[in-house]
Amino acid sequence: MAGPAERRQSVGVDVGGVMVGGGAPVVVQSMTNTDTADIDATVKQVMQLARAGSEIVRITVDRDESAAAVPEIRDRLVSMGYDVPLVGDFHYIGHKLLTDHPACAEALAKYRINPGNVGFKAKRDTQFSTLIDIANKYDKPVRIGVNWGSLDEELLTKLMDENAASAAPISAAAVQREAIIQSALLSARRAEELGMGRDKIILSTKVSDVQHLIAVYQDLAARCDYALHLGLTEAGMGSKGIVASSAALGILLQQGIGDTIRISLTPEPGGDRTTEVKVAQELLQTMGFRQFLPVVAACPGCGRTTSTTFQTLAKDIQDHLNISMPEWRERYPGVETLSVAVMGCIVNGPGESKHANIGISLPGTGETPAAPVFVDGEKVATLRGADVADQFKVMVADYIERKFGAGQKTAAE
Ligand code: SF4
Repeated sequence: MAGPAERRQSVGVDVGGVMVGGGAPVVVQSMTNTDTADIDATVKQVMQLARAGSEIVRITVDRDESAAAVPEIRDRLVSMGYDVPLVGDFHYIGHKLLTDHPACAEALAKYRINPGNVGFKAKRDTQFSTLIDIANKYDKPVRIGVNWGSLDEELLTKLMDENAASAAPISAAAVQREAIIQSALLSARRAEELGMGRDKIILSTKVSDVQHLIAVYQDLAARCDYALHLGLTEAGMGSKGIVASSAALGILLQQGIGDTIRISLTPEPGGDRTTEVKVAQELLQTMGFRQFLPVVAACPGCGRTTSTTFQTLAKDIQDHLNISMPEWRERYPGVETLSVAVMGCIVNGPGESKHANIGISLPGTGETPAAPVFVDGEKVATLRGADVADQFKVMVADYIERKFGAGQKTAAE
């Protein structure tokens, strides 16, 4: 039977009311790129990300001004109806910031700790334990997020030396992966020794190479039952970042690995930060893990259809659905399961349209200028004329009202 492997069993973690792991649906998260000290800009971007569907939002907490801003950011969001959990991203001085800003420690729903830069040698233990003690005090979960760009050098050097002295040395890349995994697992064990429950710990081991990411998470997943956050770090811009992240995360999700995902895209200058949320949702929806938006199936077009009518209609319909979804989610429960087909000619048009809730097969070059419309597999109308697109949009709206509106009549009624 087609389908993913059974989900890996993980210990569920409650992140400000959003369950991560423990059998919960895979959670979509994102991160702001505003200066957190700029409260207006950060509140605005968190709202945009939350509206786009980000279920958890991470913000940078890099200095006193950022830490001081966090409580107001949280309060403003809550006052406007956005109770999305905020995660603080800490590096180098997280122990100090959380100690000096207790209101920040309280306002955040989770702390992200990078074990590669919580201090070095003797300081590491005290700084790490300070972070865990504060998390325990405020009953907050943590993500122990290892990143190969800031890997624990002491641990890596030790493993490299051991490997060099070994009778059967493994590759340098494999040693590096082992260091990443050990860094995460040793830190998690230390957190448990400091009294943190397993239900408060999420792990991530991010690298920027697709094959290494898959290998490192497969190994990590087999060696623990902590909830896992997946992400390909430094995935890049545009289609390169989307493809690389989707390939890596898609394979891991198919293998049952991963409880929450972030797609780390580099936006174009002035670009839309919410793209990373849309890509994460589309990945989960395409693979059948979750349903966020109605699906529009459209053929790619070819030499059989020289008009752009169907491309324009497909885009119009998709845009209309995307724009309407925030309101429709309230008004039409279940509308995210809707499927619409917009096809370019008779070859696959009627067949594909029959599989959708509502579908239209536009006339290809040389075909009779008529567009049959199918509803729940049955042909219900043939549209003609220059305003076929508008007629179809009205039919889609009627279908949504009938199927998902208060009356919820079936198409046959
Ligand atoms: S449905 Fe028709 S127009 Fe669309 S790709 Fe197939 S053959 Fe070409």
